[in-house]
Amino acid sequence: MKQNSPFLPQASPSTWLGVMGGGQLGRMFAHAAQAMGYKVAVLEPATDCPAGQVAERLITAGYSDAAALAELSALCAAVTTEFENVPADSMALLAQHSFVAPSADCVSIAQDRIAEKRFFVDCAAASGVLPAPHQVIASLQDIAAIPDALLPGILKTVRMGYDGKGQVRVDSRADVEAAFAAMKGVTCLLEKMLPLAYEVSVLTARGDDGASVVYPIAENVHRDGILFTTTVPGPNVDPACAQRAQDAARAIVARLGYVGVLCIEFFVLDDGSLVVNEMAPRPHNSGHYTIDACVTSQFAQQVRAMARLPLGDCRQHSPAVMLNILGDLWFDGGTLREPAWDQLLALPGAFLHLYGKEEARAGRKMGHATFVAPTLAEAQQQLRAACAILGIAL
Ligand code: ATP
Ligand code: MG
Repeated sequence: MKQNSPFLPQASPSTWLGVMGGGQLGRMFAHAAQAMGYKVAVLEPATDCPAGQVAERLITAGYSDAAALAELSALCAAVTTEFENVPADSMALLAQHSFVAPSADCVSIAQDRIAEKRFFVDCAAASGVLPAPHQVIASLQDIAAIPDALLPGILKTVRMGYDGKGQVRVDSRADVEAAFAAMKGVTCLLEKMLPLAYEVSVLTARGDDGASVVYPIAENVHRDGILFTTTVPGPNVDPACAQRAQDAARAIVARLGYVGVLCIEFFVLDDGSLVVNEMAPRPHNSGHYTIDACVTSQFAQQVRAMARLPLGDCRQHSPAVMLNILGDLWFDGGTLREPAWDQLLALPGAFLHLYGKEEARAGRKMGHATFVAPTLAEAQQQLRAACAILGIAL
């Protein structure tokens, strides 16, 4: 796929970098960019947002606001996105005057489950992995035509799904019909429910010059559809599986002609086989451990890729466990309280990252903690100690 603006020079520190979206990923991106001397502009409709609190400039506007996009583009040498549902048209518009990474084409594949699955299938000969068996559900006829082999399954909305939202588990065609109706008839994808042994993700970054790096494979545990922990090295991951996932990731970014940080999620099935699930065209929650455990964090890598500087060393220097901190922790029964950060930070190798969100709500990502240690067993022990302190059942 074609990248944009090959004539633009690399962005040297002291110039501006732009980010679409004001969430925590934009905030951590801004921290990394500022550490390298860049100024950061954020375009986001919400006035108080995690990235807006730290950026040099916050442009408060909708993601498709033409005047705001023109302002961002005029200011910034390069622009990226921190969320995958950014309007692809906005990325294309920005690319007329700024270097944009990832490209509108790559973003539009990743934000549409049908396009994404089609891409994975097309790429399978090179990547060696296939997605789960699936079928598009756009009408009642599609439901009648569901083969038995696809059930039980999961019905997922084609667009705007995240953290398990827009997904329903279905056992029968009648279930699919009810779930499809409840989703108000938006186009969905039915995926066969696979026997997962565990889940992994591979973080990659590719430069405009075609050079790419692949981080160590990460093992992820979800709770209620939201990432709970990421452990690297993954306790279940064997070297052959890691190699297959990393080779697949390399093939996928090369085939996309991708520029920037991309995270690819895989399932490892009970029989050991690898299935590609989805990709996020941005730094990813499962890559937060890289801030404290790798030579170059995923956010610093994104800065390098979009500024067209050489990519950094993605070597991991310490085993690590990342724990997401959700708003639930602020509630003790009916009362609101601040979690015991002092006790958490007394643990050796504990790092706390809070995103500056005022209001704690159940299921809301408020921050994360990373535990690094000389051995994985020690990092896992710190996780257990942290969960005991925070009142999280393991
Ligand atoms: P994310 O927060 O990663 O964006 P999402 O809402 O886009 O999540 P998926 O990653 O597709 O959704 O699915 C969420 C979780 O549901 C997966 O991590 C996995 O645990 C489970 N899941 C999804 N698809 C399947 C499947 N085909 N078979 C078994 N489990 C699945
Ligand atoms: Mg997912």
